[in-house]
Amino acid sequence: AALADLLNSRIRDVPDYPKPGVLFKDIAPLLADAEAFGALTRALAERAKELGATKVVGLEARGFVLAAPAAFAAGLGFVPIRKKGKLPGEVFQKSYDLEYGSATLEVQCDAFEPGEPVLVVDDVLATGGTIGASLDLVQQAGARLVGVVVLMELGFLDGRERLTPHLGGAPLDTL
Ligand code: IMP
Repeated sequence: AALADLLNSRIRDVPDYPKPGVLFKDIAPLLADAEAFGALTRALAERAKELGATKVVGLEARGFVLAAPAAFAAGLGFVPIRKKGKLPGEVFQKSYDLEYGSATLEVQCDAFEPGEPVLVVDDVLATGGTIGASLDLVQQAGARLVGVVVLMELGFLDGRERLTPHLGGAPLDTL
């Protein structure tokens, strides 16, 4: 609860961004605050170790900022899941629906050892489209999902329910 209060106090609500009617959760003040960013990084690293992960997967772009320092703090490797066309070599691809149109995410085919335990990290769970596609990629790339951690969850969008079929029983935590 102390951690949640600290993190909450450093998240800024920005009305009508990126378009009218949307209340955007801005994590820039949290990242800029050494105490809050440090506490967040340590919590993610601890969770990765608890779950027995050997790699931490971050989702472009804010997921990178959370997952990479957590991987370092836990003594683990980091793997990026990126938007289409950014990763060299052979990749697995997964497309998912957005409000208007669709998006495609990619992971390198050789990112994981077969069956390797991985933790997936992102900043915000909204509709669940981004994390759902990422979990499918992790599975396709032959890794074993041991958990998902997000900084925050926009509960009214029902992302958690949409993710359940992609989780394969792994826990989904919100800090
Ligand atoms: P979803 O695919 O609808 O769950 O959207 C999640 C993605 O959109 C995440 O990668 C977030 O970075 C981004 N996102 C959605 N809403 C917000 C917000 O209020 N603040 C920051 N990022 C957001």
